[in-house]
Order: sequence, then structure tokens, then C-alpha cells
Amino acid sequence: MTDTNPDLVCRDLTKDFDSFRAVDHVSFDVPKGSFFSILGPSGCGKTTLLRMIAGFQSPTSGDLQIKGKSMIGVPPNKRPVSMVFQHLALFPTMNIGDNVGFGLRQRGVARTEIARRVDEVLDRVGLPGVAARRINQLSGGQKQRVAIARCMVLEPDVLLLDEPLGALDLKLREHMKVELKSLQAAFDTTFVYITHDQSEALVMSDNIAVMNHGRFEQIGPPHEIYHKPDTAFVAGFVGDANKIDAKVASVNGAMVTLTSVGAEMRVEAPGSELIAGQEAQVFLRPEAVELTKSDHGAGEGDNVSACTVDAVLFNGANSSVIVRDQAGHLMNVAMPQTGSFSGLQVGDAVFTRWHPSQARCYPAATV
Ligand code: ATP
Repeated sequence: MTDTNPDLVCRDLTKDFDSFRAVDHVSFDVPKGSFFSILGPSGCGKTTLLRMIAGFQSPTSGDLQIKGKSMIGVPPNKRPVSMVFQHLALFPTMNIGDNVGFGLRQRGVARTEIARRVDEVLDRVGLPGVAARRINQLSGGQKQRVAIARCMVLEPDVLLLDEPLGALDLKLREHMKVELKSLQAAFDTTFVYITHDQSEALVMSDNIAVMNHGRFEQIGPPHEIYHKPDTAFVAGFVGDANKIDAKVASVNGAMVTLTSVGAEMRVEAPGSELIAGQEAQVFLRPEAVELTKSDHGAGEGDNVSACTVDAVLFNGANSSVIVRDQAGHLMNVAMPQTGSFSGLQVGDAVFTRWHPSQARCYPAATV
């Protein structure tokens, strides 16, 4: 029978440092064999949360269970978890095999068994036959794989990863995102990954928790976090967005009409509690806005604005255009990839259009 219980369960986990609350009633479940990321800005409490799971720090209150067993009071070396640190903490004077076998030696496993398991795990991370080589003979990406092998050889139920790609250069980081995700799938082990890099979280995770000031603002799969952010913080932190301060003019069912210094816009906000007269913030992704040369052909109910080009930011496939509407608002719009705007110049007249379902709006008070 398949085990459907979550590998990791946290309930109301809280950590106070004197009068400062670093982690504030955090609750979540991580299903077995899934990749769970905790994403948030510096200082939001990610490391403190991870350290509580690892057992390096005790919670002030709340419960934490791994495979149905409470870990409160269980020392780090008795927990079925292993941790990959940002700086990997490999031993430079030991060869790769000794680094990977270190935890097994601590556990008193027989030498022949250690050698067998080290070779097997190095094979699985795509580094066969390197056991006798020195750590400094490896590239940054290979060192990452050794650090993971060193944890996985201990067969943990949960692998904790503390921003392990943070020290790598951009190109290698892009590559390692894909690699880490496929290693996780191959090992079928539960990964809990902390990062302040939204792209790492979006690419690798089955579920993401977005953390702010010690609390989880939203937990969900990447596409939900990106397309349906629950709060203004999530909308602003994950992905690029134009943020427009506005006032609610009227609410008609799910359709909210807002004004913002001389401009009017409509946003679909089903279930929102916005009321006329309320200050609000509208978030609109650059890729949700269509750039056109005329105002013909707009869809029913689209928000359409006549604009001039303020700047063209060429960045290959991620090129964008800053446009200014007649009320003076600036908006970042993704450059269409068709090539039809390749000759666009500052000062050109263009139109923007976007459907009311493409934006999100929130009461300004929650920001
Ligand atoms: P970063 O991404 O910069 O590592 P983080 O999200 O991991 O940040 P934490 O390291 O968990 O954040 O810190 C959360 C808050 O708790 C910070 O304000 C930090 O100063 C505070 N803090 C962390 N450890 C301690 C401690 N031992 N004593 C007092 N305050 C602490």
C-alpha cells in the first residue's frame, strides 16, 4: 500500500528570540517525495525555520513531526534528516569518497559496506569513479553533487537545503536548478529548500511557501503562487509586476472599477471584499499587457490606454518597453517576440491593452 501520509508536518511552529518573533505560527505539510520551497526576503525567518526542522534550534511553541513522529526534544543526529549548507562544508583535506562516507563512518558502518554505498551514491549523482579524487579537483557544480551525495548516502527521510546555489555564478545556478530537480525526482526523497530567489523556487518546486515577517503568506504550486497571489506581498515578491496605487470607484459583482490619477481601469476580483472609496493596489504582470500600434481589435471589456514609449530595454527574449499613459503613469510591458516592434523608438505612440482578469487588486491597508 502506498504511504500517503506527509513526511513532514509543522503545526503552529513559533520561535521567539527574547521579545522578537522570528517564526510566527507556521503550519504546513510536505507530502512524501515532493520538492517544497520556502521563499522569502532576507530576515523573514527561513533559516530559523529550517534550523528548527534540523534540530539545531528548539521551537518556542508548536509541533514538528517527521513520518508521524514528533521531533520536539529529539537531537539533530537522531532525526531522519540531513542538511546541505550554502557553503557545502565539504572537508578539503579528505578525498571525495571519504567526504561522502563521513556520516556512515560516524555511524560505525563496516568499511566494505561504506565503500559500496559511496560508489553507488556517486553513480546516482552522475559522478562515477571519482571517490579517490580530491575535492579541489571538482567544479562548483560537481561539488554541489558531492554535497548532496554525502547527505543522500545516509538515506534521510527529509533533505534540507539552505540556499545551496547561492554561492554559484548565474550560469551554473541556472544549470543546477534543473539538475537538483531531477536528482530529487531520481532519489524520490522529500526536499525542503530555502531561498530568496523566486526563480529557483518556481522552477524546482512542487509547492512553494512564501514567507514574510515570520509568517507564511501563501502555500501552493508555482503556477498558483505566480498567477493567483493571495496577498499584495506575494504579488510583488514573486515575479515582476507593475504596481498601481488606485481608489475603488465601484464594485459590480466580481468587477471592480478603479481610478488612478486621471486613469480608469477594471479588474476582475471575485471574492474580494473591496468597497467603493477604498484605497487599493493593482498588480499587473508585464507579460499580461499587450502592446499594439492601434486601438482597433481590442477584446470585449479590455482596458485600453494610449501611451508613448518612454524607454526600450533590450534584453533578448526578456526585452521590455516602458510606456507612459496620458495621465503620466509608467508601465513596464513585455516586448512582443514577433519582431514587429523591433524598430520601436522612444517617443513612439503605442497602445496597451489588458483584460480585467489579468490583474490582481488588494486593499492598500494590507500592503
Ligand atoms: P537570510 O536569507 O538573510 O538568511 P532568513 O530569512 O533566513 O534571512 P533568519 O536567519 O531566520 O532569516 O532570521 C530571522 C530573524 O531572526 C532576523 O531578524 C534575525 O536577525 C533574527 N535572528 C535569527 N537568529 C537569531 C538569534 N540567534 N538571536 C536573535 N535574533 C535572531
